Amino acid sequence: MDLYRAAEKLVDWLEGKLLVAGRGDELTELDVEPAGKFWLGRLASEEAVIALRWGERGERIDPCAVGIRLTPTGAGPWSFQVRASARAWVQAKGGSWTKTPAMTETIAIDVDPAIGTTSFGTETLERKLAVVVGTTGLSAEIRVEVSRTANRKPELTILLVNRSPRTHAVLKDTNLYECSLAVSGLAVEPYQLEALPDSFRYDRRVLAYGINCGVDAREDATLVTVDTVTADRERPLYWSLDDPAPDLRFVSLAADPIPAARGLLAVLAEWGAQHWSEASLDRRTRSEDWSLEMREGAARAAADFAEEQRRIALGVEQLQRDSTLNRAFRAMNRAMLFSANGKYDGWRPFQFGFLLANLASVVDPDSESGIADIVWFATGGGKTETYLGLIVTAALYDRMTGKSGGITAWSRFPLRMLSLQQTQRFANAMAGAEFVRREEKIPGDPFSVGFLVGQAATPNRIDEDPEHGKPDPDDDEMPKAFQVLLRCPFCHGETIEMAFDRRFWRLAHRCTNDACSWPEENLPFYIVDEEIYRFLPTVVVGTLDKAASIAMQAAMRGLVGAPWGKCSVPGHGYIYAPRGKRPNGCLVPGCRGSAAPLDMDPVRFGPSFRLQDELHLLKDSLGAVDAHYEALYDALQLELCGRRPKILASSATLTGYEKQVDVLYRRTARVFPVQGPTAARGFWSTDSDQLMRRFVAIAPRGVTIEYTVDRILTELQTCIRRLVEAPEEVCRSAVIDRRFAADLVSLYGTNVVYGNTIRDIDAVMRSLETQVRVGTAVNTTTLTGRDPFEHVRSALERLERPEQAFDERLHVVAASSMMSHGVDIDRLNLMVMWGIPLTTAEFIQTTARVGRRWPGLVLVMHKIGRERDASIYRSFGKYIEHGDRFVEPIPVTRRSRRVLERTIAGLALARIQAIHEPAHGAPLTTVARLRTFVEASGLDPATEAEAIAEALHLAGPMDEPLRRDLDEWYERFFRNLRDPGGTYRFPSDLSPTGSPMLSLRDVEEQAPVYGDRLR
Ligand SMILES: [Zn+2]
Ligand SMILES: [Zn+2]
Repeated sequence: MDLYRAAEKLVDWLEGKLLVAGRGDELTELDVEPAGKFWLGRLASEEAVIALRWGERGERIDPCAVGIRLTPTGAGPWSFQVRASARAWVQAKGGSWTKTPAMTETIAIDVDPAIGTTSFGTETLERKLAVVVGTTGLSAEIRVEVSRTANRKPELTILLVNRSPRTHAVLKDTNLYECSLAVSGLAVEPYQLEALPDSFRYDRRVLAYGINCGVDAREDATLVTVDTVTADRERPLYWSLDDPAPDLRFVSLAADPIPAARGLLAVLAEWGAQHWSEASLDRRTRSEDWSLEMREGAARAAADFAEEQRRIALGVEQLQRDSTLNRAFRAMNRAMLFSANGKYDGWRPFQFGFLLANLASVVDPDSESGIADIVWFATGGGKTETYLGLIVTAALYDRMTGKSGGITAWSRFPLRMLSLQQTQRFANAMAGAEFVRREEKIPGDPFSVGFLVGQAATPNRIDEDPEHGKPDPDDDEMPKAFQVLLRCPFCHGETIEMAFDRRFWRLAHRCTNDACSWPEENLPFYIVDEEIYRFLPTVVVGTLDKAASIAMQAAMRGLVGAPWGKCSVPGHGYIYAPRGKRPNGCLVPGCRGSAAPLDMDPVRFGPSFRLQDELHLLKDSLGAVDAHYEALYDALQLELCGRRPKILASSATLTGYEKQVDVLYRRTARVFPVQGPTAARGFWSTDSDQLMRRFVAIAPRGVTIEYTVDRILTELQTCIRRLVEAPEEVCRSAVIDRRFAADLVSLYGTNVVYGNTIRDIDAVMRSLETQVRVGTAVNTTTLTGRDPFEHVRSALERLERPEQAFDERLHVVAASSMMSHGVDIDRLNLMVMWGIPLTTAEFIQTTARVGRRWPGLVLVMHKIGRERDASIYRSFGKYIEHGDRFVEPIPVTRRSRRVLERTIAGLALARIQAIHEPAHGAPLTTVARLRTFVEASGLDPATEAEAIAEALHLAGPMDEPLRRDLDEWYERFFRNLRDPGGTYRFPSDLSPTGSPMLSLRDVEEQAPVYGDRLR
């Protein structure tokens, strides 16, 4: 047995423990009321439920019935058997409670096809209950309802109902416990899951639905109720063919990538001919009874596959033909070898395939800039490295072809989330590239990384005499607060030290390791906005909201084109528009240098790539606003450099991606990789037999969700403490080899509780203090958007590298959506989800935080009173299996007049700063200066409005209203400019719609509410 198998066993064991704790299977005596203790398996008295008058919702929160809904074959009548089982708890005089033996009875059922409700077995069940309880009064029945489905098929709902009275003279508790029902001897016709459209890839059949429970089918076709619904996802296998996989180790590819590239292409072609051929699809059409639509869908997918194969073939050819590309590609593999530092040693086939398919965007960017490529690995694993491989190749190719400095890629996250782990990976990759660049003596600036994020996390600038609360260059404690990297990207040591370097005016990461290969004092990693403008790092990583700065910050021009020049003082970097405090345009305070010319062709400054992480989050207002800013960036870069950048994006979903890409980027969308011919099997990945994530749906009965979460955390923490204290005993019980105990404690010792609202997270934290008692202290922390930067950093660090002693580690993390992106920690494998998140995309993203490398267990606590949670509970297995298909379409438009009203000022002012001011060669910072410029240059409102309209692609009749707004805005802007009596000081004052947006986040707060497809 290996550790992975042992971990699977532990997951089984923990799941079993929770089930048993929820129902009370192992208890026979109690000092407390059972009604307040158990959350599974119980049934309330029907009379009590009716008396509550909560309707259907109450029936879900504290159900009086459990059962199965199905469509029988044939027209009826139907005869079958129902086996019902239940227990009761009886209070003795002394106050303690005793559980009765199980009452189990099989009842023969004969149902007539006429619509209606019939009871069965009441007398028998009452009598049997009286025997086990020792007194009469408890009652139950099998209730069968006959109805018709929407397409007129007969449908049976078979229930075990607790018919006991609300109160009883002797029995203090008239609930039934450990209830279950089994139906046998009845042939069933599966439902088709109506919530989803047909697809040749997916199976929509549902055998039966549970009522207040799940349903399992036994081998003998018996259907049984189960108290939790379990759905497993298997870990993907990245190579499942009989042929040996090509040698994709970095070390081999660094020597010669051609054999592996050819090898992969050959197998891909052969596989495609087998699985995507007309003959194969025709065969499936017959055997799987496809509709015409499904067959057409399959034909389109086959064409996509052929196109993907063509692109890979082109990549192979380019590698063979273009010796510079070949050299850059080999150097990239060396760089990845360096940056992986022994953690992994090569590419997975899909990663290598992606790289080959996208080499065209490195060597022929013009033909590729009209396409946005979406990286979509539903199965996860190595997405960041995949596009890092492409960016490193592009950066090296840039250096080899005369782009000696400037930005190659700007990568943006949509949220206020600061993905420190992602940033570290970017830094590691670029350090690898830099290491290789030096060794191979490739000319140009060192490769570098910039961290460009909004608000508070890192400074916009360091002033000589800062205002109170701003970073103070004279404060020795200041630099520490802004540490971003945890490890030196060059020597991989935890040897980072922060310092403020007055000479170069840099807030620097430094490495204290004398043996480090980086020769300079300050690492090539920039975290202050102004330093990023000064040095234009090879890769800029940050949050999307920074895009808005281009309207206020002349130096943002460096993200779309060339700076104004360089400062003559070494180490000061690029210069931009002169301003009062910086007359030569150098951003270093008090600089006395002068402007020196650029040493590179200005058109090569524009970034080759803009990356967007978590594309699906760019929706609603944020998406609409971003669409305008993307258009602005494209237009500026096109004007300054003659080319738009390539867009690369990652998304959690493919629902509606074509339209979204069109709205956001005005580009054609393309996805890599094309999904396989079935959900479980494709060329690039196939389900393995290893458990990746087990999802367990829990609908607490009769008690609150708060209480249930407390109990589950208590149980999980108790179990893991048993494993620490008595490993022999636990390993024996879970059938695990004892030698894995310590590793399992590390992998399963920390629970994540995921809350959708701050209120839920606060509730978790409160109960962790008071309700979760397991003998020793439970160490807790939060990971939410309101936690300070330093807190997040140190919490992630503790999670990634836990303390030696179990008692000192973090045991429970209460997290919000802040952690649902970019947190990648192998030790997080147990998650309790407090209610279903607002969107399916978030559900997928969040649960992907656990089970990244080891089997994960996700306990999905349904707020079962809610309609949405209840509907997901009903189809939980399919919800997990189809995953992405349940994602709500992404609402986004660029045709909103309200949005244009918010963005127009920013678009207009950005044009002034990025285009007109440099053309003018002198500041346009005041209305007077702008007026002089406009008069001299003949700039007019119509031309400016036309430029923006073109950027936004406002053309058709649908765009007329926006076009009119735009013209009118410029008319008023120019009228204000020319107004001799105007009191306007700055160009932004001239805007008829107020100042430009400070951050794209300004609109982000409005949380969207969706309808969902399950209902
Ligand atoms: Zn170092
Ligand atoms: Zn200077």
